[in-house]
Amino acid sequence: MTRITIIGGSFGGLTAAFELQRLCGKDVDITVISEDDRFVFLPSLPWLVMGWRMPGDISLRVGEILKRKGITFLHEAAREVDAETAKVYTATKEIPYDYLVIATGPHLSFDEIPGLGPDKGFTDCSFTLDHAVGTGESWRKVLESPGPVVVGSSQMVSCFGPSYELAFEMDDELRRRKMRHKVPILYLTSEPYIGHMGVGGLGNSKRFFEDEFAERDIKSIVCQSIEEVTPGEIKLKDGAKIPFKLAMIAPPFKGVPAVAALGNPRGFIPVDGNYRHTKYKNIFAIGVAIAIAPPEPTPVPVGVPKTGFMTVRMAKAAAATIYSEIKGTTPPSPEEMEVLCILDMGRTAAFMKASPLLPPRQESYTKKGVWAKWLKVAFERYFIYKMKHGLSNLP
Ligand SMILES: Cc1cc2nc3c(=O)[nH]c(=O)nc-3n(C[C@H](O)[C@H](O)[C@H](O)COP(=O)(O)OP(=O)(O)OC[C@H]3O[C@@H](n4cnc5c(N)ncnc54)[C@H](O)[C@@H]3O)c2cc1C
Repeated sequence: MTRITIIGGSFGGLTAAFELQRLCGKDVDITVISEDDRFVFLPSLPWLVMGWRMPGDISLRVGEILKRKGITFLHEAAREVDAETAKVYTATKEIPYDYLVIATGPHLSFDEIPGLGPDKGFTDCSFTLDHAVGTGESWRKVLESPGPVVVGSSQMVSCFGPSYELAFEMDDELRRRKMRHKVPILYLTSEPYIGHMGVGGLGNSKRFFEDEFAERDIKSIVCQSIEEVTPGEIKLKDGAKIPFKLAMIAPPFKGVPAVAALGNPRGFIPVDGNYRHTKYKNIFAIGVAIAIAPPEPTPVPVGVPKTGFMTVRMAKAAAATIYSEIKGTTPPSPEEMEVLCILDMGRTAAFMKASPLLPPRQESYTKKGVWAKWLKVAFERYFIYKMKHGLSNLP
């Protein structure tokens, strides 16, 4: 029986596991290793910060779900992959594999900037459930005792959407409470311009976000690296100092240490069009874990985002490729990657599309409407339902 090991139990890892089980049935023995026994619908974390969602609304325990599907779940961190002997090591186990799927997401590299991060530093972050709960507490302190808010991204970030969302949502909530004039909001970013988002913009996103920021009196500082953070102050590489009461700053992204040796200098895994490792033919990588070269050089380095939508497509493509190899059939042709994203803006939302992912493009736009907000809410419910029931065959 073919042994397939998957590291990561989120958008990529769960989709790959369900899809491989669906395609291969009893011909495979699948093990999912994840250091978190929950699936968390990360796109709803900004809503959790705002107090519009509770952790239980947007998370599921994955052990039971996988067991029902006949998939083994190992709630442990992978420590190392030995690609030569085809084994994954955890603290207690040695797991041999015929195929390995790496879906480990990012390592949030707070240590690269002194004073950054909620654990050892002075800033908040909303990229994990636990961090977002903490950011929510900091936000409620701002509501009780107003002061300046900074949201944004440090250098080497490759996920900008949530910071835009929080800037708009905080603006909206403050206006609802009639206290917007008491809380200056600054959007601080490594992007070369507003709306770049690591992909060279999406249609008119530069003008769109500049206009929205102007209308809502959200100030911005672009193209910046953070030197260090001290209590209540961010120091930029150009010497400028920015005071804050709450700073939600996305940290530099890296590949996770357990798989970094298989990747580029920042630990992201190089893959071909079917998400197969460029050197190890029985290793696949999907989602945030993979390396994608930026579309253009930028004065401050930024990474290319790998959205949930992209991650699910990668997981299905990798699963179909492994299935074809097991069956001895022709692998699927590589597909052009594209971005579809709904960015929440409080009472409304923006629908963003870029096809293909990087410019020049066939189609690319950013459109605003309350319909996009309802689409985002519906998508949240739909995706959590899909994961709860392991329905990877649904779109
Ligand atoms: C706040 C936020 C908002 C977002 N909003 C959107 C949105 O609106 N639309 C959209 O399309 N995308 C959005 N995204 C992006 C989307 O969430 C990601 O594309 C998606 O989560 C990537 O899935 P992944 O499986 O690659 O990695 P992740 O979701 O990061 O999961 C990685 C998994 O690997 C596990 N893991 C890591 N290291 C190890 C180890 N050593 N051993 C075992 N397990 C390990 C983790 O516990 C986790 O289960 C958002 C992301 C964030 C953070």
